Amino acid sequence: MTDEPALPKGELLKGRRGLIMGVANKNSIAWAIAQQLSAQGAELAFTFVNEAMERRVRPLAESLGAKIIVECDVLKDDSMDRAFAAVAKAWPSLDFLVHAIAFTDRTALEGSFVENTTRQNFKDTMDVSAFSFVDAAKRASKMMPKGGSMVTLTYLGAERTIPNYNVMGVAKAALEASMRYIARDLGPAGIRVNAISAGPIKTLAAAGISSGRHMFSFNRLASPLRDDTDVKGVAGAALYLLSDLGASCTGEVLHVDAGFHIVGMPDEAAFKE
Ligand code: NAD
Repeated sequence: MTDEPALPKGELLKGRRGLIMGVANKNSIAWAIAQQLSAQGAELAFTFVNEAMERRVRPLAESLGAKIIVECDVLKDDSMDRAFAAVAKAWPSLDFLVHAIAFTDRTALEGSFVENTTRQNFKDTMDVSAFSFVDAAKRASKMMPKGGSMVTLTYLGAERTIPNYNVMGVAKAALEASMRYIARDLGPAGIRVNAISAGPIKTLAAAGISSGRHMFSFNRLASPLRDDTDVKGVAGAALYLLSDLGASCTGEVLHVDAGFHIVGMPDEAAFKE
């Protein structure tokens, strides 16, 4: 049913409990992260957005031994209340949170940002993709009396313009700024808060972006590593940030994108190979 757990295996997270928000299917970045965290001994709880997703998420979560698998639509306060209450009822405390949630109207992911961004979709995209981390972090922090760690997923479109990424880039910029403010607020409680800026990975969310194929091939050709982003590298970065390996690291945006973010102008030779 599931892929082999991502390696390396070990005990870096033995005895730690974490909530994973954002698995849709086995291609989800959150699923790769969950497998890596589980392989290091973490006990995991999962949320799914609705009944249709539950059919895919529940068997995956159960394959890692999860007991808490709960519906959570981040746009609804009562749904967030119920999900976090379910976690609090089952566990005395929480050690980490993974937030891998984003959504926008597909029509906003093509063409002109200035022409295609409506007031309503701007608000909705911000709500699902940026505010949800603020809300989840607030709730999760109440369950972290001895400190903890939180990670959210972002993309280079927050820092630079990317064709068709449009309003999602604006939401990711808000997400990254929110991450820094959350890190500042929760730092005194021993809670570290970071973001991973992943390069393009073939998931349900990425499928919504127009000219996705161009995005993948351009990233591959232009990046210093001349390669796609390996989701296992993203999972490894999450393990670093969520375990004690990442001690003292907070408020950081860690790029895992084959180095694409450092390139101002790609090498001519890369496009002639
Ligand atoms: P995905 O489609 O597998 O995951 C997106 C998740 O968001 C899904 O589980 C979906 O159910 C959830 N979601 C959407 N609306 C929701 C709501 N109202 N309430 C609760 N959950 C909701 O795709 P993914 O690529 O794994 O995306 C995970 C994160 O990684 C996103 O934040 C995405 O922007 C980010 N990211 C993706 C890439 C990429 O290339 N795939 C690159 C960088 C960052």
